[in-house]
Amino acid sequence: MTALRALADPLPFDYTARAQAIAAVAATHAETVDRDSRFPAETFAAIREQRLLGIMVPREWGGEAASLAEVADICYRLGQACSSSAMIFAMHHIKVACIARHCHGSPWHQDLLRRLCREQLLLASSTTEGQQGGNARASAAPVEVVGERFTLDRQATVISYGVAADGVVTTARRSPDAPPSDQVLVVLLKPDYTLDPLMGWDTLGMRGTCSAGFALHAAADTEQIMPVPYEKIHAQTMVPVAHLTWSSLWAGIAAAAVERARQFIRGAARQAGGQVPPAAAHYTKAVASLSTLRGMIAAAIERYESVRDDETRLMSLEFQSMINLTKVEASEGAVETVMHAMRACGLSGYRNDGPHSIGRYLRDVLSSPLMINNDRILANVANASLMSPVAATLSS
Ligand SMILES: Cc1cc2nc3c(=O)[nH]c(=O)nc-3n(C[C@H](O)[C@H](O)[C@H](O)COP(=O)(O)OP(=O)(O)OC[C@H]3O[C@@H](n4cnc5c(N)ncnc54)[C@H](O)[C@@H]3O)c2cc1C
Repeated sequence: MTALRALADPLPFDYTARAQAIAAVAATHAETVDRDSRFPAETFAAIREQRLLGIMVPREWGGEAASLAEVADICYRLGQACSSSAMIFAMHHIKVACIARHCHGSPWHQDLLRRLCREQLLLASSTTEGQQGGNARASAAPVEVVGERFTLDRQATVISYGVAADGVVTTARRSPDAPPSDQVLVVLLKPDYTLDPLMGWDTLGMRGTCSAGFALHAAADTEQIMPVPYEKIHAQTMVPVAHLTWSSLWAGIAAAAVERARQFIRGAARQAGGQVPPAAAHYTKAVASLSTLRGMIAAAIERYESVRDDETRLMSLEFQSMINLTKVEASEGAVETVMHAMRACGLSGYRNDGPHSIGRYLRDVLSSPLMINNDRILANVANASLMSPVAATLSS
């Protein structure tokens, strides 16, 4: 009887313990991942051991149906330990979310999700191409279909963990005569493509994402092309899930910097017989800005969860502007929080060594306003913001 009840009503999946386990591994290796600009292999071995790569997949296809809030919380925890691990974890889940939501009617993609859960496959993302920078809604390279096969040759300026991934999910122009904005999303597995190096990844921060550039040459079956136009996937899943998971991990980076500042101020106060140093004001500002950041992200996640099954509200100008501006505000807020933490620690924070160094957090978080450039987002949202009236009440 008890066993039957357990089968019918399984225990909730314990994401807290699993996230703590992987964060502990990520923290241990974060410094060498950063120093050597290498893929955080130990973290991803732990993530696979905890079977966390398929958690967002619906149960009917072998997953755990984890909510976006649950995945975002793991990103936040991982962000405190190793920014690059958190970013890779987030990017993989953005791809999984896109496939899981938009694969209905496509047996190939449903089988892939089952396989992904079983084999804990890691998916990378390719949207940035050639000279087009961060405009994900335009592709240069087309898929070229011959019978039931297609080829794709793409100058992928940046593919994070491209070498370590088991597959790449890429945007492409629908056909050689389609305009750049008429895009499809294509799911490729390792045997379907080769990656010829174009440029390396020697950057200020996020060094462990190994986001090198490659010429991607692919040949695969046409059933690997997602059945829904990319335009829809972009607005309904790609942008909301990307912006919310990224924001969560950036907040995690900020939280780690604030914790270092807390340790520093406490130590300084102890040494001064309980007198807090003047820089404590910066610590207080860091705490305040982290609190605002967390509140804003949590509210945006709740908002997404509440409209995700309502296409009209999801596609509304008002929701789309909100989700884009959340990314802008979260990235600026995360940078501001880390800066306050560094000023609270003074020279100890500015140093690259020592227990209160803020250097790695600052270098990593500085990628956040660039990752889909905030200037580009603000320019895109400008017209939409003019169309919507300014909120007249606090709760609307
Ligand atoms: C850590 C990290 C990992 C990444 N991983 C991947 C990945 O796995 N796959 C992938 O495809 N991409 C990846 N990217 C790239 C990312 O998605 C963006 O394409 C990239 O950050 C955009 O870079 P950019 O600012 O040079 O380009 P752009 O967005 O083209 O911006 C270039 C310059 O033009 C300005 N600008 C652009 N548009 C406007 C506008 N409309 N109005 C005013 N100014 C404008 C910007 O301010 C900026 O100064 C990654 C980026 C980072 C930082």
